[in-house]
Amino acid sequence: MSVLVLMADDDPSRQTLTLARKFGELRSVRMDGIQPFAPDALAAALARAADEVHATAVFAAGTERGNEVLARLAARMDLPFAANCIAATPGDPVVVTRLRWGGSLLEEARLHSPRPLITVAPHTVAADDGPAPPEVELRPDDRDMTVRVSDHLKPSKGGVSLAAAKVIVSGGLLGAAVGCSRAVTSAGWRPHTDQVGQTGTKVSPEVYIACGISGATQHMAGLKGAKRIVAINSDPQAPLMLNADYTVTGDLKEIVPAISAEIRKRR
Ligand SMILES: Cc1cc2nc3c(=O)[nH]c(=O)nc-3n(C[C@H](O)[C@H](O)[C@H](O)COP(=O)(O)OP(=O)(O)OC[C@H]3O[C@@H](n4cnc5c(N)ncnc54)[C@H](O)[C@@H]3O)c2cc1C
Repeated sequence: MSVLVLMADDDPSRQTLTLARKFGELRSVRMDGIQPFAPDALAAALARAADEVHATAVFAAGTERGNEVLARLAARMDLPFAANCIAATPGDPVVVTRLRWGGSLLEEARLHSPRPLITVAPHTVAADDGPAPPEVELRPDDRDMTVRVSDHLKPSKGGVSLAAAKVIVSGGLLGAAVGCSRAVTSAGWRPHTDQVGQTGTKVSPEVYIACGISGATQHMAGLKGAKRIVAINSDPQAPLMLNADYTVTGDLKEIVPAISAEIRKRR
């Protein structure tokens, strides 16, 4: 009987080992054991590996890929899945603490399951420095390869990356990075790499200038690291206006050109 961990070469995977180790003797399978990334094929092979080693629990990092594979594994095996945990105590039931609502809520949950499936929220626990767990080989089945990565698109912009930018503004002034809300990426106006928020990039700039963004919880989840927020919005009661350090109430089509002109004058 062992605990199976889906591993990639990244810190979140090493952090996952820290929680998983409390659940028993570790075995690992490689996320890159199937190429290209094919979440359903990985889930199917993981299910076979879990049965082979009589796994009493399966862990993965709470990355986009880790969560996707374990969600598919849960569906295939009809088992409950606790995503984005920051703590987990073995037992019957297993007690987990989960990040919810983009990290603004902590939930304590009890998992009644013969084989709990758990992902660990990245960067919430220290990385494990114990020995690397022995690997179990994945045996993919070509019939499960329907959903797979077929191409990689390079981000359209060069220069300052969104995650590392000191100033983020919609419009590209000040040598800044350009960010946007999901309304904009859903409309296809900007690539997903520009989206700030829970399902986009978490940013930590010195200044975040939000033009015509309401400040939905999912957008604010990406802004927790911003040192200062400037909001421009025609609605003074928009959540982003209520959470900003500086606000400008009015039509951004007038305000943004006026700010741009002023900055150009002073440069
Ligand atoms: C599971 C899930 C995950 C999500 N993840 C994300 C995420 O990662 N990032 C994200 O951004 N969203 C995310 N969303 C979507 C989120 O809930 C909101 O729908 C989205 O953030 C709204 O985008 P917005 O503020 O641009 O649009 P709206 O909410 O429509 O707001 C537009 C704002 O512009 C203002 N405005 C309009 N015209 C003007 C003008 N002329 N001058 C000045 N102000 C003006 C309005 O007053 C309003 O406040 C997610 C949703 C779900 C369900």
